[in-house]
Amino acid sequence: MTTDSKTTRTTCPYCGVGCGVLATRQDDGTVSVTGDPDHPANFGRLCSKGSALAETLSLDDRLLYPEIAGERAGWDTALDLVAERFSTAVRDHGPDSVAFYVSGQILTEDYYVANKLMKGFIGSANIDTNSRLCMASSVAGHRRAFGSDTVPGTYVDLEQADLVVLVGSNLAWCHPVLFQRLEAAKAANPAMRVVVIDPRRTATCAIADLHLALKPDTDVFLFNGLLAFLSEADALNHNYIKRFTEGFEEAIQAAGPCEIGLISEKTGLSRQDIALFYKMVARTEKTVTVYSQGVNQSVVGTDKVNAIINTHLATGRIGRAGMGPFSVTGQPNAMGGREVGGLANMLAGHMVLENPNHRQIVQGFWNSPVIADKQGLKAVDLFKAVGDGRIKALWIMATSPADSLPDADGVAAALKDCPFVVVSEVSRAASSLAFADVVLPAAAWGEKDGTVTNSERRISRQRQFLDLPGEVKPDWWQLSEVGRRMGFADAFSYRGPAAIFREHAALSDYQNGGTRDFDIGAHKDISDTVFDGLTPFQWPQPAETAPKETRFFGQGGFFTGGRKAVFVPTAFKVPRKRARRYPFALNTGRIRDQWHTMTRTGKTARLTSHIAEPFAELHPQDAARLGIAPADLVEVTSPHGSVLVRALVTDRVGEGEVFVPMHWTDHLASSARIDAVVAPETDPQSGQPGSKFTPVQVAKR
Ligand code: SF4
Repeated sequence: MTTDSKTTRTTCPYCGVGCGVLATRQDDGTVSVTGDPDHPANFGRLCSKGSALAETLSLDDRLLYPEIAGERAGWDTALDLVAERFSTAVRDHGPDSVAFYVSGQILTEDYYVANKLMKGFIGSANIDTNSRLCMASSVAGHRRAFGSDTVPGTYVDLEQADLVVLVGSNLAWCHPVLFQRLEAAKAANPAMRVVVIDPRRTATCAIADLHLALKPDTDVFLFNGLLAFLSEADALNHNYIKRFTEGFEEAIQAAGPCEIGLISEKTGLSRQDIALFYKMVARTEKTVTVYSQGVNQSVVGTDKVNAIINTHLATGRIGRAGMGPFSVTGQPNAMGGREVGGLANMLAGHMVLENPNHRQIVQGFWNSPVIADKQGLKAVDLFKAVGDGRIKALWIMATSPADSLPDADGVAAALKDCPFVVVSEVSRAASSLAFADVVLPAAAWGEKDGTVTNSERRISRQRQFLDLPGEVKPDWWQLSEVGRRMGFADAFSYRGPAAIFREHAALSDYQNGGTRDFDIGAHKDISDTVFDGLTPFQWPQPAETAPKETRFFGQGGFFTGGRKAVFVPTAFKVPRKRARRYPFALNTGRIRDQWHTMTRTGKTARLTSHIAEPFAELHPQDAARLGIAPADLVEVTSPHGSVLVRALVTDRVGEGEVFVPMHWTDHLASSARIDAVVAPETDPQSGQPGSKFTPVQVAKR
């Protein structure tokens, strides 16, 4: 939809805030970008990355033509080859011998087609995504507690709260516009308090009334203690617990008594700060707990999520204005991917792979010859299977696993040996290309058309305002063409993203009747023109009623068998041990002005000038002990790999901890591929890697 002949309403392709953007084509052919004042996520605001979007649109480094074995090829030849190699692998080795590894960067319509092809027509659930690295622990925690992967609240709740607790979330740098909204709300409500729970003193602490710099991965202990404190302080909502939940006794038993001294010892926090935090929560009805990668990227991530949710269920602070647990996702469409089942353990329409009734619904709706009946390989295991030869054909879409997965060198070695690798990509700088037998040029932001869903369940349009350059094609088209060539022409004959969106909406409506959280049935019959003009909306929007209220669970209505929430006992487990040889805890994460592996944000001087090269934050005491001065080169080493970076000596990190950003990879002049150092250890519930805590050694070089 255009607001005038030159301006297009679209959505930012970076973080999960999902800001609306106005992109205007100027007479000289350039594009200017401003925030959309009418978009309910940002009301016109943009952060540094969003406002620099126009500077990333050049065709430098773009892939423009299909390639086979490094040589330019025609689309028909390339697609025929992909279809033939996937079909042959399935015929000779079975459906689980092939896999897709996709991305929270692709649009919901792309995700929908990828998931449909793999689960309903190839017959395997071997489709996983880099969202596994982002929010899989939240998905698993939601499903354990609510029976569905539901974010109960909205962004407005952060503004309406009197207490906002940010756990493992550097909101100021990773979700900047949401941080701006919180900052403004705090300025307008002087009674509002903000608590930041994070081992690092991040930029977010600028608005914190209390910063709890706990030891890495001790969050479960802190929140179990809070649950016990709330019980002992008579701050529970017994009515909510009785009417809408089950398992409280088991959870409180697992939490144990509230021994502040013991909690202090385990978390490294002072008794005074722990007591202050607990009292703030106990006396503040309107409390929101926001959590992000510091919670999710942990080998105990799912328990962290459930320990947080337990405190909200126990107080009944959920699904009402200014209250609730709130997971904020890293990527622009991690939520859309979840809706279409684009993870190895999910089905389309937020349905559950293990549920035979759900499998029957999806197979019936798709009229597909098969339906995957067991979980597929989650990201880390998927690349182990590539490495040991179980995967014969792999399709990577819009992500660089040899940079971003833990044990990245191991992933690169696995890809090198994989018999057949297809890469759908935008940038020639992407490391995946080095392993590709077939390269398919994909549409970039501004060229794509479809929808994305942000962290508050709001579906927005990403609209095309640029012509497709060269022979570039959208991901949904590439997938559909391969599906047709594999013999499934009827199921993959889409004319465009509107047709896919209608099918997705119709599946959410199909045999639902209020039994599932995700329902956008109201949109199942919309015309292409209405799809083009679709304004941002939050789900659910079922067909039979006007839009429902935008929060879930204020009056129960969970999606478990008995429609009650489940308290999950989260007995504290001691975090990963640091061996004598690897005494530091490595933490990795984003910086304010870069995105993923910098193939886009690295194109603009405005963003690269924020922080010009990779670094390792080290505490002054550690630096002094190791003879390291500021800006010295240091080597950060684990059993999996090492990187060389400059020391940034700062008390923002605790003693024994080191922080290295994730963005600098080998296509850049200064490389520090930190995921080569990160251990491939995962949470047993979610399969999400513990990227915030790898035991490492630090030495001066
Ligand atoms: Fe884009 Fe996120 Fe910045 Fe909004 S906050 S402009 S979605 S990067």
